[in-house]
Amino acid sequence: MSIKELIRPSILKLEPYSSARDEFILKDNQENLIFLDANESPFETDYNRYPDPYQRELKKVISSKLGGKTENLFLGNGSDEIIDLLFRCLCIPSKDQVIISSPTYGMYKVSAAINEVGLIDIPLTKNFELKTDEIIETLQNETVKMLFICSPNNPTGKTFPTNQIVEILENTNKLVIIDEAYIQFSDQASLKEKLDKYPNLVVLQTLSKLFGLAGLRLGLCWTSKEIIEVLNKVKPPYNINSLSQKTAIGVLKDVDIKQIRKQNALEREKYIKALQSLPWVEQVYESDSNFLLFRCDNADFRYQQFLEKGIVVRNRSKQLNCENCLRISLGTPEQNKKIIELLSTF
Ligand SMILES: *Cc1c(COP(=O)(O)O)cnc(C)c1O
Repeated sequence: MSIKELIRPSILKLEPYSSARDEFILKDNQENLIFLDANESPFETDYNRYPDPYQRELKKVISSKLGGKTENLFLGNGSDEIIDLLFRCLCIPSKDQVIISSPTYGMYKVSAAINEVGLIDIPLTKNFELKTDEIIETLQNETVKMLFICSPNNPTGKTFPTNQIVEILENTNKLVIIDEAYIQFSDQASLKEKLDKYPNLVVLQTLSKLFGLAGLRLGLCWTSKEIIEVLNKVKPPYNINSLSQKTAIGVLKDVDIKQIRKQNALEREKYIKALQSLPWVEQVYESDSNFLLFRCDNADFRYQQFLEKGIVVRNRSKQLNCENCLRISLGTPEQNKKIIELLSTF
């Protein structure tokens, strides 16, 4: 089965909108051109021109920072835009279905609902592990087009073993989407190293977490050229604005990923120890990310206690198998120290 068979026939046939910046691509030796092709304002303000629809310069910077080829990279207005685009490119409303494993990131379900796409939930076990056999079997269902695995998982914090994801990839031609929003905090390698082997693999990353650029809205999608071609057809032509492109290019070079990962792991260890020593905390889940999920005696009550001290955490009690669980993001070392001290007074 080829990738094309996964794409909605209407999208395969689609003649995409061609923007002015699509039709005329600037070459190196064409510096003194006057651009009168896009009905923009001719008065220079830094922002009077439409942005590069393919974010070529930014993609080069990201590729050299994270490894990987620019031809395998697509950028979205946050990962959330990419998730929605994948639904729209692959899933026929009221007919096709996708698989998720609860508890997980809430956006897959929301995007499925918006696109009227069926959701098959194959929940994680009580220990938050993937049910790979059941997933592989369900992927055989003809109407199932794609599978979302969030690794490290949100809200549980843990990466899934690479061999389990490889096992799924070895046994399906459907789209396997691995959401690695937190992978830079983990010691585990990104699945994007396996792109050459699996054209149906999609690896989502983001500049919103470790890179500290949530406000810019920049999501990364690493996948095969065939899928990128389809995403490019469907995306709004100028989905990444000039200010975001420019700012990210300026900031990214100086982000020390290893240093932030190391610092984060150190702070996380301290936090885990502190939480484990509290009589009202029942379990602290292992984490490869910049947040911790922990189970306590009464999440609603503890949530309020945090709030009274001016600290906003996330109550995840309503998620499957997360009764009485709170999720807390790591703060600055100063904030963490203050909160750890505070916790013993609860
Ligand atoms: C935070 C997060 C994202 C990031 O989304 P953006 O739209 O890129 O900010 C994606 N997936 C998961 C699981 C997240 O927790």
